[in-house]
Amino acid sequence: MTTAPVPGPTPPVPAPPPAERRVSRRVAGITPSATLAVDARAKELRAAGSPVIGFAAGEPDFPTAPHVVEAARAAALEPRYHRYTPAGGLPELKEAIAAKTLRDSGVSVRPADVLVTNGGKQAVHEALATLLDPGDEVLLPTPYWTTYPEAVRLAGGVPVPVEADEASGYLVSVGQLEAARTPRTKLLLFCSPANPTGAVQPAEEVAEIGRWALETGLWVLTDEIYEHLVYGGATAPSLPALVPELQSRCVVVNGVAKTYAMTGWRVGWLIGPADVVSAATALHSHSTSNVANVSQAAAVAALTGDQSGVAVMREAFDRRRKTVVGMLRQIPGIACPEPQGAFYVYPSVRALLGRPIAGRTVHTSLELAELLLEQAQVAVVPGEAFGTPGYLRLSYALGDDDLVEGVTRMQQLLGSAG
Ligand code: PMP
Repeated sequence: MTTAPVPGPTPPVPAPPPAERRVSRRVAGITPSATLAVDARAKELRAAGSPVIGFAAGEPDFPTAPHVVEAARAAALEPRYHRYTPAGGLPELKEAIAAKTLRDSGVSVRPADVLVTNGGKQAVHEALATLLDPGDEVLLPTPYWTTYPEAVRLAGGVPVPVEADEASGYLVSVGQLEAARTPRTKLLLFCSPANPTGAVQPAEEVAEIGRWALETGLWVLTDEIYEHLVYGGATAPSLPALVPELQSRCVVVNGVAKTYAMTGWRVGWLIGPADVVSAATALHSHSTSNVANVSQAAAVAALTGDQSGVAVMREAFDRRRKTVVGMLRQIPGIACPEPQGAFYVYPSVRALLGRPIAGRTVHTSLELAELLLEQAQVAVVPGEAFGTPGYLRLSYALGDDDLVEGVTRMQQLLGSAG
């Protein structure tokens, strides 16, 4: 015989545990990458049938060159690439990077001065983790690439923004940097051609910044990932080529992503003084081990093979750059300097804020980006992601027809601003 359970009093609901910290302060403080988020949202909407035109992606729209893909295919068939390889990079890739650095920048480095990383992004993280102690200040020219301040903070450092606006072509001066320097300043994070502005610092100013760093004893991390994407006669010489004495306190970051349309392959590198590279390699060996061998073999082919694809891509970007700048300048309320590098334009939209657009008043560039996505199906990244609200970043690495259609939609929507 079974007896039905006697209903007793409802057990008391347990009190919530004392505030539990599930995610560390360090990681909880990270802002997710806005550029990747906008791009993902645009792709999602497109997959759902919305005719979204994406200006958010930070990547060339070209396929990787066939000879590079072929090298990867051959590597995938080679058993020696199926195994772990030296954590710091395949010897043949480190050789190729050293040779490329001499060829493209005129700077002589040894393969031992190179660490191969999972993209330039990991090179930035590993360089900062290797150089910064808690509380070290990092001068960060602003607008900045959205990853920099997060990488500085994760490494224990303190980002110190040094802001430039469209009036100076988004270029900071030595005077501004010097004014922001304190006894705690360890490093300057320098990037030219720059993301998000496309600004290219003229050689004489780069040299001046390098000499100032040398005199003040600062380190410089110079991100040269857009070195080959310059237009209209602009040049982007490597910082250590201009100020060789700085080499003992300079780390160069670079990679194949932008120059060779290889964002998905994830190969970048850092070059620095032997002690720093050896410490960064030790760090790398405990996090990633070697970068995927097939990707490294592809990078060797990209760096040592036919370079003519770079010029083809540059020409297409240059054409689109002129189109997008010309069309954006026709929109009342938009101020758009002509960038000389990378594949971004960074117009100011401050004059449009607070005015009614399509029946709505937007007060921030974030809201304006949302309005553009909803009403014009155009995806752009708001300046909030780069430390300067009041601007939009548009990547012009998309097909010519889409580009014209997208900016036409912006003209139609924003042209109605009251
Ligand atoms: N530096 C800058 C300035 C960039 O814009 C990017 C890509 N958005 C990177 C580094 C990193 O590129 P990757 O990790 O794809 O090599």
